[in-house]
Amino acid sequence: MKKWKCTVCGYIHEGDEPPEKCPVCGVGAEFFKEVVEEDAAPAAASPAAAAGAPPPEAKVGGIAGLILDYHLHPITVHTPNGILPMALLFIAAAMFLGAPGFEYAAFISLFFVLLVMPSVLITGVVVWLKRYRGATTTIFIIKIGAAMVVTTLLTIMVVWRIIDPEVLAGAGRWIYLLLGAVMVGAAGLAGHLGGTMVHAGRH
Ligand SMILES: [Zn+2]
Repeated sequence: MKKWKCTVCGYIHEGDEPPEKCPVCGVGAEFFKEVVEEDAAPAAASPAAAAGAPPPEAKVGGIAGLILDYHLHPITVHTPNGILPMALLFIAAAMFLGAPGFEYAAFISLFFVLLVMPSVLITGVVVWLKRYRGATTTIFIIKIGAAMVVTTLLTIMVVWRIIDPEVLAGAGRWIYLLLGAVMVGAAGLAGHLGGTMVHAGRH
C-alpha cells in the first residue's frame, strides 16, 4: 500500500491513489505527494536531489520562520482560548451573584485579551500563508471568520464597558452576555479546528 502526504496540512492517506480531497484541510488530490520510505531512496543518491531539486519542506526564514519554529501561534492563541471562557463566567457571576469584583475581573480579562489579539492574528496569518500556503478551503475560511467574529465582539465589549461601566447592571446586560457567549463559541471553534490540523500530521 502506498502512502500519500497532504503537503498543506500533513495528513497521511494510505491507498494506491491520493484521496480526491483532504479530509482534514480540504485541498484537492494535486496537493498530495507520495511518501517514499527513506531507506528505499536515499536522498543523496537520487538524481533529482543531485539536479538541485528543492527539499520537500523548504525552510522559512526571517520573522515568519521564527513564528513557525517557536510555535508562536499556538502559544499566543491560548490566551483568548483560556481567558475568554473565564471572562464569560465573570460576566455571568457579576449578573447573577451581583458581586462587583466579578464585573471588574471580566473587564480586565477582556481588555488583556484585546491587547494580545494582534499577535494572535498576525501569527495565525503567517502560519496560514507559509505552512498552509494560503489555502482557501472551508476549514481556513471558518477559522479566519471565527477570528474576525472574536476580534469584533471583543472590541465591542471592551469599548461598551469603557463607555458604560454600569453595563452589567443595565438593560443591555443580556445582550452583553449573549455577545460574550457567541465570542467564546467562535474562539472555541477556531481552536478546535486548529487542533484538528495540528494533529493531522501526527499519524
Ligand atoms: Zn490536508
